[in-house]
Amino acid sequence: MSFKKKKITILGATGSVGQNTMEVILASPDMFEVHGVSANNNVELLAITAIKLNAKVAVIANESLENELKKLLINYDIKALSGIKSIEELAGEKIDLVMAAIMGFAGLRPITKALESGVNVAIANKEPLVAAGSYIMELARKNNAKILPVDSEHNAIFQVFEEQNRAAIDKIILTASGGPFLNWSKQEIKNATPSQATAHPNWTMGRKISVDSASMMNKALEIIEAHHLFNMPADKIKVLIHPQSVVHSMVSYIDGSILSQMGASDMRTPIAYALGYPDRIDSGGGKLDIKSLCELTFTHPDIEDFPALAIAYKCLELGQGACIAMNAANEVAVQLFLDGKIGFMGIIDLVYYAIDELLPKIPVTTLKTIEETEELDNTVRLAIIRNYQKVI
Ligand code: NDP
Repeated sequence: MSFKKKKITILGATGSVGQNTMEVILASPDMFEVHGVSANNNVELLAITAIKLNAKVAVIANESLENELKKLLINYDIKALSGIKSIEELAGEKIDLVMAAIMGFAGLRPITKALESGVNVAIANKEPLVAAGSYIMELARKNNAKILPVDSEHNAIFQVFEEQNRAAIDKIILTASGGPFLNWSKQEIKNATPSQATAHPNWTMGRKISVDSASMMNKALEIIEAHHLFNMPADKIKVLIHPQSVVHSMVSYIDGSILSQMGASDMRTPIAYALGYPDRIDSGGGKLDIKSLCELTFTHPDIEDFPALAIAYKCLELGQGACIAMNAANEVAVQLFLDGKIGFMGIIDLVYYAIDELLPKIPVTTLKTIEETEELDNTVRLAIIRNYQKVI
């Protein structure tokens, strides 16, 4: 074990992953030193988090909240800043590790800033990987920075993925709980409300990813995320429904061995693995009751029941433009659903609309730069907002 304190910044510190990261750090206070924390609007929780973690810098994206942040931190030696540019600068500071836990595509720029500085990134924030995975992985390689997967499935794969035996990997198998609507009828799902969609049976998470889990768009995003993180072709990435969320994912090898990582449904375990890597540290989180191993079930997902899975494979075939369109449409559609403006099934309808109808009409550039990626993302978002009432 190495005992030099790791200097860490948490982007999205007020969110579900951000707060779990704080708990992991507080469980091993001698191992970490927190440099910075950031949030979007939740200025009070940001200040509380910065104080608890004894951070040096706190950044709120919403510039109108800078004075409030300054007031909340007046008695502490914590620098208070605001604006997305300040978050990017914070991400680009030379420290040991950035926890990327911003929600959505908005996390893309800060992730690239960290990687450009050669800083290792623990990545929970899957949407930037979906939209710009090749760019992110190449940037990490060029700058000799590590990407440490935090998403529980990808963290599980990371733990059992034998890079030295890559050629002997037959497939990777992502498990999916099936979300809150696993056993609901089509009619019930159609009428689902935001509070029903955000009530995940196994995990407590932010609202957007909870809706994604209910629609299975989360698994769709994860298929593309896995493709980039592990450089695996689409036909070697499979999904199994596993409602208990105990086996977090698996890697199957040509010799017949299947290696899996198991654990409680507690994000502190994968977060601790990423923060401690290559050492293992106490997560301060829940441990699996081995009695639960007697009740594990697995079923093959029926693509008819889970159209989101088909969307992921289709996007991987179509290429990066489709992945950007899918992610952008989904982010807007989830917000429309949470705002009560569309029904639950409208989310998948809008994603299909973006890929099948919008994308062919948009002149797509090489998508080799962040600017081009952002431009396509923005074009799709605006078109969905303009047209959603006509589409559904
Ligand atoms: P939350 O919604 O709980 O938290 C999101 C965090 O990002 C908050 O700190 C929020 O600030 C901040 N934020 C949101 N939008 C912006 C923005 N435009 N600019 C800067 N900061 C922003 O999300 P989760 O923690 O659930 O998820 C975060 C990411 O991790 C997502 O990509 C998700 O898919 C992924 N993930 C989450 C898991 C989980 O268990 N929650 C598991 C695996 C992956 P504020 O609070 O002020 O709004």
